Amino acid sequence: MNKDTPAGTLYVVATPIGNLDDISQRAIRVLADVRLIASEDTRRTGRLLRRLGIRTPLTSYYREREQHKAELLLRRLLDGEDIALVSDAGTPGISDPGAVLVRLARDNRIRVVPVPGPSALTAAVSAAGLDETPFYFGGFLPARQEARKKFLTPLAAMPCALVFYESPHRIGRSLADCLQVLGDRPALLFRELTKLHEECLQGSLSELLARTDEGIRGELVLVIHGAPADVRERPGEIDELIRWYRDRAGSSLKDAVRRISADLAISRSRIYQRALAIWKENEAPSDD
Ligand code: SAM
Repeated sequence: MNKDTPAGTLYVVATPIGNLDDISQRAIRVLADVRLIASEDTRRTGRLLRRLGIRTPLTSYYREREQHKAELLLRRLLDGEDIALVSDAGTPGISDPGAVLVRLARDNRIRVVPVPGPSALTAAVSAAGLDETPFYFGGFLPARQEARKKFLTPLAAMPCALVFYESPHRIGRSLADCLQVLGDRPALLFRELTKLHEECLQGSLSELLARTDEGIRGELVLVIHGAPADVRERPGEIDELIRWYRDRAGSSLKDAVRRISADLAISRSRIYQRALAIWKENEAPSDD
């Protein structure tokens, strides 16, 4: 690294998820101005750049070689080059590669600048008309049924909407498991957002399951409404929620009690007794 040259900037740039007109003016300017664009899919990004008349060189940056490529790109950033990171489509780092390079850059005091824009996640949530402000984004559900059900179980009492990415060949099995674990809740299935055949199927999980029975094509986002109040009050569901805060969110006992009590509108003292018992499950047995 040349000590006299200031380090470059890493721009994390969102690109369209279908409709190419969704690219922002700022994204176009950044993609044209940087020295290099690191892309998950250089062919797809190449098509976008040609359409925009941008001639910035491309290099590949995909999941399987993320660590190696991140180290190479870091050297160039330290040498003063500005780099843009893009994914196949949408926002990098959201169920897409990006996190390794971003972390490495931050660890080395490189400036990381998001250039926000399209994402299937925000597009679906914005058009879902949810009553609840908070939502939980789970990325892709696990591929195997056992893991999927285990993943869904602690979410059954969550008072917020649940959002998942899904593939057309797995949506039927995922809907069936959601129905079984979460109950028959209202849901929306967004298909091909911003594209020619965009549509939104809306109904209960069992209705969506029936409607996708004969197959469905395209890219999908599933939005499921949060747990109804009666589910939240069931003791088993609250226990799962407490375990979720302990094991997945890494919360302290106090924090978990405070948040669950606020979310479910149940008194802290009621939650505290259950939470204390659940926290003790993890303690090693004493000698006496
Ligand atoms: N980073 C991307 C983003 O910000 O939207 C998501 C990448 S993830 C690998 C791809 C998944 O996002 C697809 O399998 C689908 O579930 C969802 N997705 C992407 N584009 C979509 C679209 N146009 N309509 C519906 N879902 C979409």
